[in-house]
Amino acid sequence: APVTSDEIRETFLAFFEAHGHKRLASASLVPAADDPSALLTIAGMHPLKPYFLGAATPPAPTVTTCQKCMRTEDLENVGVTARHLTFFEMLGNFSFGDYFKAGAIEFAWKLVNDGFGFDPDKVWVTVFGGDEGLGLGVDEETVDAWVAAGFPRERIVLLGRDDNFWEAGPNGPCGPCTELYLDRGPAYGSGEKPGDEDADDRFMEFWNLVLMQYDQKRHEDGSSTLTPLPTQNIDTGMGLNRMALLLQGKETIFETDQFAPLIALGEQLSGKRYEAGDAVVDKALRVIADHSRATAFLTADGVVPSNEGRGYVLRRIMRRTIRQARAIGIEGEVLPRFLEPVIATMGAGYPELVERRDEMLTWIRAEEQAFDRTLAAGEKRLDEAIAAGTFDGALAFQLHDTFGFPFDLSVEIFAASGPGSAWLEGDGLAEVEAEFDRLMAEQRERSQAGSRAGDHGGASAGSIAGRIAPTPTEFTGYATLEQHTTV
Ligand code: ATP
Ligand code: MG
Ligand code: MG
Ligand code: MG
Repeated sequence: APVTSDEIRETFLAFFEAHGHKRLASASLVPAADDPSALLTIAGMHPLKPYFLGAATPPAPTVTTCQKCMRTEDLENVGVTARHLTFFEMLGNFSFGDYFKAGAIEFAWKLVNDGFGFDPDKVWVTVFGGDEGLGLGVDEETVDAWVAAGFPRERIVLLGRDDNFWEAGPNGPCGPCTELYLDRGPAYGSGEKPGDEDADDRFMEFWNLVLMQYDQKRHEDGSSTLTPLPTQNIDTGMGLNRMALLLQGKETIFETDQFAPLIALGEQLSGKRYEAGDAVVDKALRVIADHSRATAFLTADGVVPSNEGRGYVLRRIMRRTIRQARAIGIEGEVLPRFLEPVIATMGAGYPELVERRDEMLTWIRAEEQAFDRTLAAGEKRLDEAIAAGTFDGALAFQLHDTFGFPFDLSVEIFAASGPGSAWLEGDGLAEVEAEFDRLMAEQRERSQAGSRAGDHGGASAGSIAGRIAPTPTEFTGYATLEQHTTV
């Protein structure tokens, strides 16, 4: 059975290639200019959307990819759960009006058994159990397809719309999905099947098969009319790093082969040991490992640090990394040193990392130096405000504006302080966030009214930015970033 991340990737792509799929290269993390739906590529289907919508002709009726993905919605999960990263690789097979439910399920079950060698008795699946607002009952076709493929009925769990129905918005293509889980055993949670409370670590989701079947029109009252799509499509997503966790028998994603060198470097630079009983150190090492990969891949795709849009996503991630590094005693350069093991582990599969190394390093180094200069000053200002009991949205805005503190950084520091923990329980966060957003919006209006020439935090036309200019995206506040999660 495949074990290394490289073997897992190749096993998947070669399997679908052998079954007639055309292998396509990963698209950029920066979505196409005409796609305003998300700041960054969040799933394998994302760059293929024009084919699913019928707006473009696919290069083949069935394709397979390993897509670079970035999910800011999982930022807070990194280092906390065993299974979430911000940057990760998603494997997928796609059918544009070719095979549908039965075909997708047959492929999946065969690959899981013969290709990946999972113990079939430990695999569970979830199927859509129906929803009144959609006017749909249990997805019996999918249950039947699993049973026909030889899957035992007693390990099929029915879940509702939130878990097992894919919809990108109130209108447009949608459909049920069916997901695959591996049971890691009762030591990982008291839940007894996927969907139970305390089951996520025990039953680890690794593959989502989306069965795009309907065109949705949502009505005022929340109900929907669904009409069958002219051609039915398959869109699947398997997390490569989750597969590595499962096949390498690790506790979390951070002990797998792509991460081990990054954790080791963090240990070496900090003089601290991973998994030696200090949860703060463990989380910091994981965050640094994840975020330095994200930083490398984002800058390789032409994103540069700035105060809005994806540039701001990058800035937040870089600044979080540096703060975590300082907190565990790493001195001197941080991200430039972590860039090397990222390139060493990922460069063969993603040559852009090797080709653009020097430009990436220039941006990363400049951002880190700028942040180092303001970090101490900003923290001092924040500490004073906390001591005086005057932390509020205006201060968060000032810290953002003057010291380049991402909003969540200020909140994180405040929440960790004495008065901050009580404040988090009440409405304090919402109030602070609302005021911050309002001041950000005002500032944006001011800058739009003024000259357009002013740049936003150093993203002037450097060579990377000039070559693969990221489309400017309006940054409409912290909350919006978290909402940019559905395609
Ligand atoms: P979860 O419930 O674990 O957050 P999800 O349901 O949000 O996952 P999907 O949107 O179904 O994930 O994406 C398809 C697959 O991509 C998942 O089954 C998983 O293997 C992988 N995946 C999703 N999010 C992440 C992440 N943050 N880090 C690593 N892999 C991920
Ligand atoms: Mg998720
Ligand atoms: Mg899920
Ligand atoms: Mg899922």
